[in-house]
Amino acid sequence: MDITTSGLHHVTAIAGEPQRNIDFYVRGLGLRLVKKTVNFDDPGTYHLYYGDEAGRPGSLLTFFPWTGIRQGVVGTGQSTSTAFSVPQGSLGWWKDHFAAIGVESTLSRTTPDEDRLSVRDPDGLSIELVASSATDPRDPWDSALVPAEHAVRGQHSSVLTVADPERTIGLLVNDLGLRIVGEHGDRTRLAAGAGGAGALIDVIAASGGPQGLGAGGTVHHIAFRVEDQATQELWRQELTSRGHQVTAILDRQYFTSIYFREPGGVLLEIATDTPGFDIDEPLLELGRSLKLPPWFEPSREAIENAVAKITLPEENNPGLVGARS
Ligand code: ZN
Repeated sequence: MDITTSGLHHVTAIAGEPQRNIDFYVRGLGLRLVKKTVNFDDPGTYHLYYGDEAGRPGSLLTFFPWTGIRQGVVGTGQSTSTAFSVPQGSLGWWKDHFAAIGVESTLSRTTPDEDRLSVRDPDGLSIELVASSATDPRDPWDSALVPAEHAVRGQHSSVLTVADPERTIGLLVNDLGLRIVGEHGDRTRLAAGAGGAGALIDVIAASGGPQGLGAGGTVHHIAFRVEDQATQELWRQELTSRGHQVTAILDRQYFTSIYFREPGGVLLEIATDTPGFDIDEPLLELGRSLKLPPWFEPSREAIENAVAKITLPEENNPGLVGARS
């Protein structure tokens, strides 16, 4: 069978202190916290999901925040940068906005029709805002913290830094159905599905930099989209038959997942578009309360006592602002 992903589903990274993480992504970047749950492999710690209003695939950045975690090393064998799409002409507003909240930002031009503003989140993770001449039709999350006209439209692309780009590109093209759409300096751009923002991967050849070490401020894995679990099962069989060591299908409550490592060392996931983030709380209230999968509900009290106390900006649930006494 042919495997063809339509684009990125989410990126998952490792952070330190969770409140600092929430403040940066909700207040600073204007994303919506669409789910506050726990790390299913370490339920004493959070798993925080940020995205657009509904947490649609292709808008999601998620974090495992561990207070006091050591700093990781950004380098070879990792996704070394996560880019979000913003409207053309918005980067000046963003530069002023970051300056006002004490975040240093750097403007650069990747291609003649694509400008980017690069920042580091509080843990050192590389985040970029990309303004391109191609219109991004996706609706922004209108949070009142960032004006809708400038707001993030969703993911733009992920950068993979690897020692041997040919092998990584080979996997992306032959096994996941991406195609090469451009070469810009040391950057090979690949597109999935219809292409455009949210469906792009840039592969960069490591230039003698350090080997990546996963910990605070680094990306843990990137996930591509698949329609549903039945398709995911077919992909799993296909990827296994092509020699990849693929995990069993894992229930992540809001989607199901399989994982395997590409030859350059980056952990890849295939995640389903369904069931989505409104399966266990209404759209208006996303992110507001700690949600647990059924198998952790019996331990809710112990889990609530174990996780750090965090405060969510009111703007995360605008429908509720003023509705409370
Ligand atoms: Zn994931």
